[in-house]
Amino acid sequence: MKFERYGIGIAKGLTVTMRNLLRRRITTQYPEQRLTVSRRTRGNELVWSKEKCTGCATCAKTCPQGVIHIVTSPGEENSYEVEEFEVDTGYCISCGLCVEACPYDALYMSYAFELARYRRGELVLSRNDMLIENKQASAYFRPEISETLPEQELLIDRKE
Ligand code: SF4
Ligand code: SF4
Repeated sequence: MKFERYGIGIAKGLTVTMRNLLRRRITTQYPEQRLTVSRRTRGNELVWSKEKCTGCATCAKTCPQGVIHIVTSPGEENSYEVEEFEVDTGYCISCGLCVEACPYDALYMSYAFELARYRRGELVLSRNDMLIENKQASAYFRPEISETLPEQELLIDRKE
């Protein structure tokens, strides 16, 4: 059996501690401090444009989880009125397929990533919860809005 001299292990450990003590920090004090995430992030929510949506339900048919629920009624000039538009984010896997499939560019991924809730039912988002007027859409699959979004912040680029 090999024995090391007493204290060598502690000295080695302290050397590592001292070396890292003087280094620039590579962590942040979340949730007090937050970094701006990538413009193309796929958040936990969807953002929906009432004006652009035609109620075609392509997004609901594309969703592999079957979590988009749409109810429409006949509207004017051969169109649909969207009565209900709900997404159960408890089962959503943020794959983005619904956004990619929407033929009218009415769906976006969001920046949201803090969606823990006490009750299961609160994870079901209604159309009002997803309105583009109230939510920040990300540029995932929508490069045309990329320039309007804040640049991603990386700890490595920080000066302090
Ligand atoms: S992101 Fe994926 S799982 Fe979530 S609603 Fe859209 S298609 Fe369904
Ligand atoms: S695919 Fe787009 S336009 Fe069609 S119902 Fe879904 S969000 Fe609306």
